[in-house]
Amino acid sequence: MMEQLKCIGCGATIQTTEPKSVGFTPASSLNKEKEKTIYCQRCFKLKHYNEVQDVSLTSDDFLKILQTVGETDALVINILDIFDFSGSMVSGISRHIGGNDLLIVGNKVDLLPKSVNKTKLNHWMRRSLKEIGLKPLDVALVSAEKGLGIDELMSMIEKHRKGRNVYIVGCTNVGKSTLVNRIIKRFTEEQQDVITTSHFPGTTLDIIEIPLDDHTAIIDTPGIINEHQLAHYVTPQVLKEITPKKEIKAGVYQLNQEQTIFIGGLARMDFIKGERTSFITYFSNQLYLHRTKLEKADHLWQTKAGNVLKPIILERDNPTAMEKHVYHIEQEKTDIVISGLGWITLIGNRQEVHIYAPIGVGVFKRPSLI
Ligand code: GDP
Repeated sequence: MMEQLKCIGCGATIQTTEPKSVGFTPASSLNKEKEKTIYCQRCFKLKHYNEVQDVSLTSDDFLKILQTVGETDALVINILDIFDFSGSMVSGISRHIGGNDLLIVGNKVDLLPKSVNKTKLNHWMRRSLKEIGLKPLDVALVSAEKGLGIDELMSMIEKHRKGRNVYIVGCTNVGKSTLVNRIIKRFTEEQQDVITTSHFPGTTLDIIEIPLDDHTAIIDTPGIINEHQLAHYVTPQVLKEITPKKEIKAGVYQLNQEQTIFIGGLARMDFIKGERTSFITYFSNQLYLHRTKLEKADHLWQTKAGNVLKPIILERDNPTAMEKHVYHIEQEKTDIVISGLGWITLIGNRQEVHIYAPIGVGVFKRPSLI
């Protein structure tokens, strides 16, 4: 049996099977290296390229970290994906970080149509956060990928941290490592070889520390797996297809009652009852939307899912099994959100709308974002 090897950077047990988990090292690089000097892939990249790679944890493991953070006086930054705002929330965060100061960062702002008013968006974020009991000191909108809003975020951090450590938390896929890498670049322009990994006290979970001064650091924690994220139900290839890459182009569908729209093979919206209505769709530009009559929809789904209607979710017992969500839309501009996929906006006039989405994926309505 292979003897247990430890990474000399973070101390994690070396493993060669789970690329997204702690201690991963490609088997090929194991053979080359002498046993004493093994780095896991994450530490290797950090050491040689000053580049962060995310490792992920289930929410149970993550709670241990949050509890420890809750016991220290620190500034906590929670990164959310503005395109999957509710789906990327860390459940129970307000309870677990105790009285700690919180900043909320909405990432991927580049995906929203340019016409979206940033002040309104800011208010919308605060209102949505308040509804779930979160009262951050401040909210920021950034694009980690395009480098938008980073200067403002850095000043915000400096203003609010008051000489304390800064913890960065977030679900997987929100762009946490992209953002942390941006932050690291800022710091390494001035300093060299300063970033380290270490264990989170009392656990074997490793964290990355980016020093801010002699005593304090920005601490990057592992990404949390949120089981409701659509990302976990599709292949990496499909995830690429459904994750928008650039500004989303809204689609407009004038529908009469008893009409249906398929969103690829991943979801379906039935307009059951109501006056003729404009439905505005916000999905990845690469995703194929198919419009049909309600009476034809079931047959179409049974015969064309995975064929014309694609992509579909990972093969499970029954890849076409879907959960139905029923909505009555009141007289308000409303979004119906399919977490991780996008949303549909309509002006409420007592319509009845049914959404079919993969079982377990979050579907909900909210006051319109745009
Ligand atoms: P992590 O799992 O939270 O560390 O997320 P990553 O940094 O690996 O990013 C997840 C995905 O989101 C990748 O496909 C990134 O290219 C993408 N992404 C990250 N930041 C942005 C952003 O600001 N805008 C857009 N459009 N995509 C982003």
